[in-house]
Amino acid sequence: MKVYPGFKVSDAGLPGHVPVLTLRGGLKIPQLGLGVYELDGAETYACVKEALRLGYRLIDTAEYYHNEAETYNAVVGSGIPRDEIFIISKLEPCRGSEREIRAKLEDSLYDMGGYIDLMLIHWPFAADRLAWSVMEEYVKAGSFGAIGLSNYHPDGVKRIMDGAEVLPVLNQIELHPYYQRLDEIKANEALGLKVQAWSPLGGGMLKVTADPVIRELAQKYGRTPAQMVLRYEIECGVITIPRSKNFAHLRENFRVFDFELAPEDALVLAALDRSEMIWDI
Ligand code: NAD
Repeated sequence: MKVYPGFKVSDAGLPGHVPVLTLRGGLKIPQLGLGVYELDGAETYACVKEALRLGYRLIDTAEYYHNEAETYNAVVGSGIPRDEIFIISKLEPCRGSEREIRAKLEDSLYDMGGYIDLMLIHWPFAADRLAWSVMEEYVKAGSFGAIGLSNYHPDGVKRIMDGAEVLPVLNQIELHPYYQRLDEIKANEALGLKVQAWSPLGGGMLKVTADPVIRELAQKYGRTPAQMVLRYEIECGVITIPRSKNFAHLRENFRVFDFELAPEDALVLAALDRSEMIWDI
């Protein structure tokens, strides 16, 4: 089982303590990590390396992002033991022959040094149940630490779980202050899955960090809007994976473990929910 001994204070001296959640089956996952969607190879290498230097120990990539190899190379280049870092990748949906699914999983494993902590199905597709049974084999063989889902509504989670030999540990879904999905968080938790927030800052499309309510709260706490949002998500119990290629933002986004929201302010943020989503699936 993994432990994160460096998690009390990062090597870069940032204050606080990164909370770690335990997934079904026992794997430990930090509650905040870096997402590398839309980063090209060089950006991915630089940002993952800097994030690891700052103390991040969770990286979220995907076959679809075309930067799995650079993610892994940055992990190796960081000099941090591989087993102190949690890497997530995702199987891109395909037309769905078993051969095609295996080839995709093998490609990801090849790019990522032969082991991936958590492999997700990126979004539902016609052959996802077949993909799940193939992925189960990889868990049993020790190539994946665990497997999970992304962009699944609770009914879809149940469909995958029905008859599964290896159960999903996590569901990565769109989640931010404008789309808080509290019922779905509860439904996933009832099924034994942790929830991970994608586009936790609104993905750059929804102007969450420009929201006047969030800005006012940020001023009250002497924090930035992004820090308020990330802190709120952590206090909601979800795992959050903000993306940035700006090193100052990487640092800022990780500095959310040395303050807490007053209950009345958490309620102010809860009231911002308006079911506004980036991607309607
Ligand atoms: P995000 O919500 O993390 O927002 C990224 C945007 O916020 C960028 O424009 C960035 O410049 C800006 N930003 C970052 N830190 C900031 C700060 N401190 N102050 C102001 N602006 C800041 O968006 P995302 O990349 O869409 O989502 C995060 C991660 O989630 C992705 O990188 C990816 O790993 C994952 N993701 C998964 C899916 C999926 O289908 N499973 C979909 C989208 C994203």
